[in-house]
Amino acid sequence: MGVKVAVNGYGTIGKRIADAVLRVKDFELVGVAKYTVDYSALLAHRNGIRIFTPREKFAEFRNAGVEPEGTVEDLVDGADIVYDASPGKQGAKNKELYVRYNKPAVFQGGESPEVAGLSYSTLCNYEAAIGKKYVRVVSCNTTGMLRIICSIGTGQLDSVFAVIVRRASDPREDHRGPVSSIALDSSTIPSHHALDVKTVVGDVSIETVALVVPTTLMHMQVMNVKLKKPLSTDELAGLLRSSGRILVLDSTLLKIDSTGKIVELSRDANRPRYDIYENVVFSNMVKLAKEAFTLVQAIHQEAIVIPENLDVAYAMMNLETDPLKVVKKVNEALGIGALQGIIPSEAKAS
Ligand code: NAD
Repeated sequence: MGVKVAVNGYGTIGKRIADAVLRVKDFELVGVAKYTVDYSALLAHRNGIRIFTPREKFAEFRNAGVEPEGTVEDLVDGADIVYDASPGKQGAKNKELYVRYNKPAVFQGGESPEVAGLSYSTLCNYEAAIGKKYVRVVSCNTTGMLRIICSIGTGQLDSVFAVIVRRASDPREDHRGPVSSIALDSSTIPSHHALDVKTVVGDVSIETVALVVPTTLMHMQVMNVKLKKPLSTDELAGLLRSSGRILVLDSTLLKIDSTGKIVELSRDANRPRYDIYENVVFSNMVKLAKEAFTLVQAIHQEAIVIPENLDVAYAMMNLETDPLKVVKKVNEALGIGALQGIIPSEAKAS
């Protein structure tokens, strides 16, 4: 029997956490809390996932052919750990429930850092989450930048500047815009992403500028990283590849030069929901010059935080103290690294 896991909120992130939990033998999915009757509730029910709902929604779910297994309180009560995957800022309100039932909880990046007290990204601060009751896994763009920053090591960094080209919405959120503009994501420099990075790694020098573009398929980031001492090309490549969480590919060799083509690669590789758990770094768009490098990477907003969500439970539930062992285990469970095994990182010199 594994650690009993509840997922409160079954939207973009919640459904992916639930499916990932089902793929790891150390965890057992008790069920998910669903708040509205829709196709995803029906599919989850058909796939054997136990659905819990607010009591006042029982009749609505029954009418749709889904027998609720109990209330949201029953779900939380029956779990060892809860993932809160509710809409941003709702998690802070839900925390009262987790406190009442004395359950550890993992919050998501849409919550303010204060909700958990610890903001988390595996390659940066796994050890800090060991035995913690409440942890917040930072959001998609922040996770993408932190994987680069912490693969290099904060001690090696002088400063970071990043431009984030952010997707407007997830594919099903077609009520959100912009429809045809390129919009500012924030009215200040830095965007909130730089502040969010600092919640995990402390006071590094980082500036971010974020723009929103009308697409649903991934974010792109341009990162310029200044180092305290030079790295060789091989050293940089080795650091980026060390965790398996960064997929390095040559866009010219593979003819993959856009987020749409990365998504198609993922579909062809039969990734569930075309989820891309890795940062996708274009090797031909990494330029190393003495004590600085610039890189371009794509980040799949719906999937990138899922490995970190699994990792953190190993720490919070005191299952493993070594982050490398956890990353290896979660990578194997989610198939992370398999693509890098068949895809060349760069073209061979002719
Ligand atoms: P979502 O809107 O897709 O899903 C939220 C789900 O929670 C919905 O199914 C909703 O019905 C349900 N819900 C409603 N009331 C609830 C309640 N009181 N308690 C629990 N659940 C409730 O949202 P999402 O995109 O999955 O985002 C969830 C969290 O993950 C947010 O903090 C968000 O910022 C963060 N996040 C989102 C992305 C992304 O790209 N979508 C990426 C990283 C992190």
